[in-house]
Amino acid sequence: SNLQMGSSTITPLQILKTYFGYDSFREGQEEIIDTILDGRDALAIMPTGAGKSLCYQVPALLLPGITLVVSPLISLMQDQVKSLNEAGIHAAYINSSLTEGQISKALSFAARGVYKIIYVAPERLETASFLAFALHTPISMVTVDEAHCISQWGQDFRPSYLKIVDFVRQLPGHPILSAFTATATEVVKNDIARILELKNPNIVITGFDRKNLYYRVEHLTGKQKDTFIANYIASHANESGIIYCATRKNVDTLYEQLLKQGVSVTRYHAGMNTEIRKESQDDFIYDRAQVVIATNAFGMGIDKSNVRFVIHYNMPQSMENYYQEAGRAGRDGEPAECILLFSPQDVMISKMLLGSKDFEGMDFTETEQVRHQDARRLQLMEGYCMTTSCLRNYILEYFGETTDQPCDNCGNCHQEFDEIDMTQDAKWVIGCITEMHGRYGQALVIGTLLGSKKARLRDIGATSYNCYGQLQNRTENELRLLISQMIRQGYVIQTDGEYSVLKVGNISELQKNTRILVKKFKEKEKISLSKKRK
Ligand code: ADP
Ligand code: ZN
Repeated sequence: SNLQMGSSTITPLQILKTYFGYDSFREGQEEIIDTILDGRDALAIMPTGAGKSLCYQVPALLLPGITLVVSPLISLMQDQVKSLNEAGIHAAYINSSLTEGQISKALSFAARGVYKIIYVAPERLETASFLAFALHTPISMVTVDEAHCISQWGQDFRPSYLKIVDFVRQLPGHPILSAFTATATEVVKNDIARILELKNPNIVITGFDRKNLYYRVEHLTGKQKDTFIANYIASHANESGIIYCATRKNVDTLYEQLLKQGVSVTRYHAGMNTEIRKESQDDFIYDRAQVVIATNAFGMGIDKSNVRFVIHYNMPQSMENYYQEAGRAGRDGEPAECILLFSPQDVMISKMLLGSKDFEGMDFTETEQVRHQDARRLQLMEGYCMTTSCLRNYILEYFGETTDQPCDNCGNCHQEFDEIDMTQDAKWVIGCITEMHGRYGQALVIGTLLGSKKARLRDIGATSYNCYGQLQNRTENELRLLISQMIRQGYVIQTDGEYSVLKVGNISELQKNTRILVKKFKEKEKISLSKKRK
């Protein structure tokens, strides 16, 4: 190898300048690097875009042996290795995208000390050939990237992560362990330290606030969303932006539509051919296309600093997902906007997508736990869309930070919404559920209150209820929003499972005449475009 590292005369700062071309460390980076170089285990919790990779890449160059980086995604490994190689650092990845021949070649290079950093998928650690290699090559550090995958309470549980520790235990010479994640919840943090058997780890948590990001939530129906996006792009010409959609079909439809309107647009989803996808990604990264329409497959490992807006066409499935995707805006530190376009249908799309989730490799208990967590996460995501208080504080509190003042830099702080008093309506909802003896689901409750003519309502006798048609001047959307808010506040209970029904919860607060305010859908003509900020 032409890398002559491991000498104590070279400092982390020199590595940062020489190989990565940066002048100074960001918050948390130096502390983690120093911890590792002191030979101590480390757990770093930093938001997306904070610069986690450098925290293990810099010490990897100063440690005598190899650093193994366990990473869950092939595309992520490829991007990382490519940019390391471009920086003149010898790195490689070993995963299922390589042939058996390529793998044994890479391993024999590695055994000869050609690479300082090797990325591997967790499954690889279980193979005999890899273990044989690892037992006979000095390994200084094992780094676990996206470490939340080890926890059933994290958003992307990967059972194969549980095997990492078995692998590490077999290694001679006790390598340093370092783990990285952007998920900050207490349970996940403790799971990582416990399951990976970190020894007296230095746990470094940097702040989650991204002050340059302006958050807003717009309540719009499908057609209004399209209009909003067309207007937004028109009034933000020359600004780079990402629009995330929940499904591939959504991506294609919106893409065609914007293309017809003459917008400089490209698209990205897993259903596209690899080459075309790579081309679209590059068109966006190198500013040949202003906007990319994408599913959440887009963005992992993509490092474009001047993204000025990230719009979510649909509500994501969790705050973790939202924060990660929205966080791709404004990495350069300049003001950027994160806008979530919400409609009640989004909740149903999310439930459907979660329902078809793959539980490969998990047993029944694990599956049930994950399902339960997913539902809980979805509910808190919905809470973000509904809240009338500061959006930034909602995010920070979700990730375990305490907040005091509203931020004065988000759509809610700027009162970019109307609200309606639905206290009386809430009482009718309770009345309806009572008349139904808690036997029916949300669709029938709403149908009854709206006075719908559906045969099913006549069949169950709902047409003769007191509450039948009492809320006929409301819309279905309004009632859906109201009921989901009542569920979150505990006034109504929605049972789990396929045939979920609504039951009356604790309504003592409601009886004390607490007002129920619901965020109102904007009328078409009132959709305001964002004002330019600071
Ligand atoms: P994360 O993994 O935490 O999401 P990355 O490691 O991908 O973040 O880093 C995000 C971006 O910040 C990258 O472009 C990276 O090169 C850049 N970066 C990291 N550390 C520094 C630093 N000390 N100074 C300037 N830029 C940095
Ligand atoms: Zn705010």
